[in-house]
Amino acid sequence: MTEVSRHSARFRLGGLSGIDMISHALDTYRDRMALVSSFGAESAVLLHMAAQVSKDIPVIFLDTGKLFAVTHDYQADLAARLGLNNLRTIHPETEDIKTEDRLGALWREDPDRCCTIRKTWPLNRALKGFDAWVTGRKKFQNTDRKQASGVQTQDDRLILSPLLNWPKPDLDAYFETHGLPPHPLVREGYLSIGCFTCTLPVGAGEDQRAGRWQGQAKTECGIHRPVLNPAA
Ligand code: SF4
Repeated sequence: MTEVSRHSARFRLGGLSGIDMISHALDTYRDRMALVSSFGAESAVLLHMAAQVSKDIPVIFLDTGKLFAVTHDYQADLAARLGLNNLRTIHPETEDIKTEDRLGALWREDPDRCCTIRKTWPLNRALKGFDAWVTGRKKFQNTDRKQASGVQTQDDRLILSPLLNWPKPDLDAYFETHGLPPHPLVREGYLSIGCFTCTLPVGAGEDQRAGRWQGQAKTECGIHRPVLNPAA
């Protein structure tokens, strides 16, 4: 896809959100668009919307090798319930793990490098051939995400965030209206759910992602880089 085409798509999709953005984006990109989901605390909303548009949208689930066991159960249950039939579970390369994280403790010594080999590289490989991908980021999750744009470009692909401006009460209402099951760890105070090694419950009044890499300056895994070229 050329930069002119990307610019045009950014312009057309930039004013949309929720299921409208997914639907129009699929009209534009068809089989060149994927959805990336952690099957985390609020993932059910985006996945449910996508399933209403098409159950064939490729859904990429990144199994870092460090996920909570209940996340795997939740992923299987939710995908079956929503009828998602193009689920693609991806993993880090065995060779990368052998070379760089043989003892499985890199998350403690160098979490940025750990996220690179367990998240960024596998996702970059999985996104080859796609011109756009859909993510469930929300502005209210932390301070960094307030700067994000609903449609932005990264590595010559569009990243679409249909829920970026949705407030938490609207997400809760969507769960309620559609009878969606919450991730089991939400009731234990985990409001953002990643690897078990780097995720803790969140205290009252804290940012939703405050339990991720707690006590460190790190707030993101590196999959989403700072916004360089927001929607036109
Ligand atoms: S979240 Fe933690 S364990 Fe998971 S990839 Fe990043 S540093 Fe490694």
